[in-house]
Amino acid sequence: MSNGADVVVVGGGPAGLTVAAEAARSGARVVVLERRTGDTHSRAGVIQPRVLELFDARGLMGRFRAAAARWRPDFEVPRYMYAGLLGLRYDELDSKFGYALILPQTTTEHLLADWAAEQGAQLRRGVSYLGHAETADGVVVTARDDAGRSVEVTASYLVGADGARSAVRAGAGIPFPGRPTRMTAVAVDADLPFPWRASMRMARNEHGWVLSYPFGERTTRFIIVAEHRRQVPKSEPVTVDEVRESLRLIFGTDFGVRSAKWLSRYGDAHRMVPRFRRGPVLLAGEATRVHYPASGIGMNYCIQDAFNLGWKLGWVAAGHAPDALLDSYHDERHPVLVALMDDVAAQCALHFDFSPGGLALKDFVERELVPIPEVNASLRDRLSGFGTSYHRDGDPHPSDGVRVGDFAVGSPHGASYTEVAARRAGFVLAEADGGPRELPERITAVTASGALPGAAAAAVLVRPDAYVARAWDGRPSDEQVAAAYRAALEGERR
Ligand SMILES: Cc1cc2nc3c(=O)[nH]c(=O)nc-3n(C[C@H](O)[C@H](O)[C@H](O)COP(=O)(O)OP(=O)(O)OC[C@H]3O[C@@H](n4cnc5c(N)ncnc54)[C@H](O)[C@@H]3O)c2cc1C
Repeated sequence: MSNGADVVVVGGGPAGLTVAAEAARSGARVVVLERRTGDTHSRAGVIQPRVLELFDARGLMGRFRAAAARWRPDFEVPRYMYAGLLGLRYDELDSKFGYALILPQTTTEHLLADWAAEQGAQLRRGVSYLGHAETADGVVVTARDDAGRSVEVTASYLVGADGARSAVRAGAGIPFPGRPTRMTAVAVDADLPFPWRASMRMARNEHGWVLSYPFGERTTRFIIVAEHRRQVPKSEPVTVDEVRESLRLIFGTDFGVRSAKWLSRYGDAHRMVPRFRRGPVLLAGEATRVHYPASGIGMNYCIQDAFNLGWKLGWVAAGHAPDALLDSYHDERHPVLVALMDDVAAQCALHFDFSPGGLALKDFVERELVPIPEVNASLRDRLSGFGTSYHRDGDPHPSDGVRVGDFAVGSPHGASYTEVAARRAGFVLAEADGGPRELPERITAVTASGALPGAAAAAVLVRPDAYVARAWDGRPSDEQVAAAYRAALEGERR
């Protein structure tokens, strides 16, 4: 069977589904090949505030909140952790979303799959990528479906969102340097003999660290780093006895756990690709890096990759932007991911030292440093995603490239920026001093009736992924806006 598309995405996990939805929404014909036909067990349990803002800018937050509320009543976590230490004040973020949202990854994937389908992406399950060949116009992907039939898809672009063991990455000859797993930890969805009332709870001592939070009716997720079990290979199955022993050593009780829905051992392998693009092949999500899932941010950075890449693919495929726009995906995301990898390494160094000195250092950081407002804000920005900026040295305005949160806008466009962004896949010009405008067709001009969260400027041209393409202190002319828009489509700033 053979068919054609603008973009073929391999992998229907969080990154692939988000790329597919965004590219299709922006005008690309998208096919997703996913080898699974059913769910895997949820790994990620938390959606971070910046991703909530991005979902809000697509009108999706009603669904996400409703799904989270069905899962558990207290689904908002306003105080988050860093490196296993308590105290990040998400409730002090300058945003509607002053919390992390607890939701199993499988539910997140269902919601993203629905959204991608609504945008017109074609999701083909039970189809495994085997390889691809580059042609003058793009790629020919070969795959096989569950019935053993060959599948061929031709496309202008191939997105490898097929996870840490990416076959697309290998097929494109993109190296994956770094180091293998050195230590392992355990994740358990344990059946409890009583309902777990507490929200997030943590314990640590010389035997290790445990994080626990309710994960469904009478199920509690435990993340366990046990000092005496850290050298156990990933391949060794986790037993309930092992879990109980670790809980007793670290928490002082095994909570009466007798069985579990899921027991998993995972590692701290640390690898990253040097480039996110090779010709018509682009990599997204864990296909580009793998790291210890510190503080529950892995999936969230994968989804942020996808928001950066998706609209660009759509605009290029629809002929609204040159191919060069796709190079800006690597240029913008690579430094963000390098910083993430360094941050994860630092978290692990602090988190996993259970020596007397290591425990004293943790106490000191948690008690003396994390409460300092500037420190709290800095750590919070790393995890929440609010610290991500595409600002570059030499950009004309300090707010160029920064994130935009929701803000109130004047009629006739609706009540808020996110309503405008959700309605139409395009750029938004927001200015305090609105007025008649003659602008390119894909820019909606609105009057901002309040401050712009994230940006300090009188006018901002906002990209489809809710980052500032260009900011001005005064009212820009129509020609200045049009020039900034054209530059943004070339991945430039003018
Ligand atoms: C224990 C644990 C807890 C975690 N907790 C969190 C958390 O709280 N918050 C957080 O943000 N992150 C968390 N993470 C990380 C998160 O799970 C990953 O970052 C996320 O799943 C990566 O998304 P992805 O779409 O890039 O890749 P994946 O989710 O791995 O998706 C890749 C998809 O590609 C498909 N695929 C692979 N090969 C092929 C092929 N040849 N053909 C077709 N399809 C293919 C796979 O079936 C899969 O569906 C956790 C991870 C672990 C291990």
